[in-house]
Amino acid sequence: MTSALDISRTSPAHPQRGGTRKARDRGHIQIRDVSVEFERNGDWMAAVKRANLEIKPGEFVCLLGPSGCGKSTLLNTVAGFVNATRGELLVDGQPVTAPGPDRGMVFQQHSLFPWKTVRDNVAFGPLMAGMGRTEALSLARTFLSLVGLSAHASAYPATLSGGMQQRVGIARALANYPSVLLMDEPFGALDAQTRIMMQESLLEIWSEFGNTVLFVTHDIDEAVFLSDRIVIMSASPGRIIADIQVSLPRPRTQDLLTSPDFIELKRECLDLIRRETLRAFEQQNSGGR
Ligand code: ADP
Repeated sequence: MTSALDISRTSPAHPQRGGTRKARDRGHIQIRDVSVEFERNGDWMAAVKRANLEIKPGEFVCLLGPSGCGKSTLLNTVAGFVNATRGELLVDGQPVTAPGPDRGMVFQQHSLFPWKTVRDNVAFGPLMAGMGRTEALSLARTFLSLVGLSAHASAYPATLSGGMQQRVGIARALANYPSVLLMDEPFGALDAQTRIMMQESLLEIWSEFGNTVLFVTHDIDEAVFLSDRIVIMSASPGRIIADIQVSLPRPRTQDLLTSPDFIELKRECLDLIRRETLRAFEQQNSGGR
């Protein structure tokens, strides 16, 4: 299958900051003893419990775990949408207290502005950051070329397929040159074939940009295919129960999905998650905590 990308044609160096395309010296995430609690009907409930995680600049890390275990909450805490109720969270040494342009977010549901063209969606962030319109539109063209959507720059999001809309979402996040890309099940709503194409495309973009990526998924295949490391979370309240190094060779293509090393890693993750799910189930049945 051919890739949707043609990175060789593009040169996404920042027009104002110039310099290198890669951001490998930025995007260091430190999560130290972080808990997140929400109030529900007068009770406080822990969504994330005492998480510790360090992610090096340029690493691709997947947060994997059953639905409702707190993956999105932890991601949203790194994004600055949610505040930790305990512990400390730093990105490049700075405490995270609010969203910022150093952290780009891609959601499962397309969060594009439906009334703006694809090009204007991508140009929005740079415009908000104070870039001139001509420059911002030129930057948008560059990023749309990077995700293979140059021909659709004037289209409105509703006229694009789900996979294409997600590519616009990725281009829009990257147009702010974030050092960290936060992705919350971005391919969860796509069919299997589009999904694997998008995964391959994402790896190409990542290898070009060198951003740190923190990617939430409950799909074991996706986590093993994409990651340098897989961080597994327990059923609610979400604790980090395993941190697995994925040393499969890169660049990765879908041929990898049937290799013995891939299957072995997948089995390891599956066993851990199954054990954890059983434990949570037994705990619920015994009414314990
Ligand atoms: P996951 O991403 O693993 O599916 P979430 O992080 O979305 O899990 O949710 C973890 C738990 O926290 C769930 O029980 C969810 O209902 C709860 N939760 C998430 N956000 C909020 C919120 N804003 N208010 C109250 N409870 C929340």
